[in-house]
Amino acid sequence: MYEAEREFALNVAAQASRLARQVQEEIVANADSLTKGDRSPVTMADLAIQAVVSRRLTDTFPSDHLLAEEDAGAFEDSPEMAAKVLNLSRQAVPDFDAQSLATSLDRGDYHGGGDDRYWVLDPVDGTKGFLRGQHYAIALALVDHGQVVVGVLGCPNLEVEPGNPEAGIGCLFIAVRGQGTAVRRVDGIDEKEIHTDRITDPSLAVMCESVESAHAAHSVHGAIAGALGVTAEPYRIDSQCKYAIVGRGEASIYLRLPSAKGYREKVWDHAAGALVIEEAGGRVTDLDGKPLDLTSGRFLGNQRGIIATNGNFHEKVLDAARAVRDSE
Ligand code: AMP
Ligand code: MG
Repeated sequence: MYEAEREFALNVAAQASRLARQVQEEIVANADSLTKGDRSPVTMADLAIQAVVSRRLTDTFPSDHLLAEEDAGAFEDSPEMAAKVLNLSRQAVPDFDAQSLATSLDRGDYHGGGDDRYWVLDPVDGTKGFLRGQHYAIALALVDHGQVVVGVLGCPNLEVEPGNPEAGIGCLFIAVRGQGTAVRRVDGIDEKEIHTDRITDPSLAVMCESVESAHAAHSVHGAIAGALGVTAEPYRIDSQCKYAIVGRGEASIYLRLPSAKGYREKVWDHAAGALVIEEAGGRVTDLDGKPLDLTSGRFLGNQRGIIATNGNFHEKVLDAARAVRDSE
C-alpha cells in the first residue's frame, strides 16, 4: 500500500531539503541577515518549496488536495520576493512562470478535515532555527480518510549517526502506516528501520522540547520532568526534528504544552512527525491521551498540548502532566 506515495514523498522531500539547504547556506555566509533579524530568506525558501511540492503533486497525484502553510499573498507587496522565489523554484521546476508559480502556491489552501485524500505540507518547519543556522524540517504527510498514512521529514542538519559528526548530516525519515519508519540520507537510497528506545523507567528518559519558550511552556515541562524523576537536561531542538529524534531513540519524550493560552496547533506542525514516532513504536497524544484530531481542518481539534513518548510509559507521562496542570 502507498508505494507510489512513499516514493513521491521521499523524492520531493529530498529535493526540498536541497533547496532549503542552499538558502540556509547563503544566510550563514551572509551573517548580516542573521543579526538584522531579516526573515526574507526563510520566506523565500518557504514559498519556493511549497510551489515546487505543489506542482509535483499536481503532476503525480492530480486529484489529491494540498493543505499547506503559505500562499501567494506574500508577493503582493514584494515583486522583489516574487522574482527571487521564481528564480529559486525554477531550479526544480524549470517551466515555472510568475502565474503558474502563484497558482501552485495557492493550491495549498485546502480546508482539511473530512475523508478526502489530502497532503499536508510545512515547507520549512522551525523557521527560527533555520534563521539561526540550526535545525529545521521539511514536513509532508498524506492523510486518507482522516488518518495520516504517509509521513516524511526532511531534516537537513540532523546528524546521520547521532554523536558521530564524521558520518555527516542530512536525514529523511519516512513512515507508512502499518509499515514502520525508516531513515536514509538526504542524498542516499539505503534505508535503515528506526525504533524508539527501550527505556521503561521514565526517570532515565531524555525529554525534548522547542528551543523557543514562546512555542511551548518550558517551566511546565520542567515540572513534569521533575515529577517523573528525569535528571537529564532537556534536549532543545527546533522543528519536527523532535519527532525524528524520539523516533530513533535519541530522546524518549517530546513535550509541547501550550505557553500561550488559546493557541491552536496547526496540522502541518504535527501530521508527518506523529506518524514517524508511531510507526517507530512510540505514541503521540494530547493531554487526555487522545490521538491527534485532524477533523477540525487546518488546526488540530485537540488543544491541550502534545505528548509523545517511546511508547513504554506513556500513561505515566500523561499522569504526571495532568498532575502538574491540576496544581497550577
Ligand atoms: P518549534 O520549532 O517546535 O518551536 O515549533 C515551530 C512551530 O511553532 C512553527 O511552525 C509555528 O507554527 C509554531 N508556533 C508559532 N507560534 C506558536 C505558539 N505560540 N505556540 C506553539 N507553537 C507555535
Ligand atoms: Mg511549522
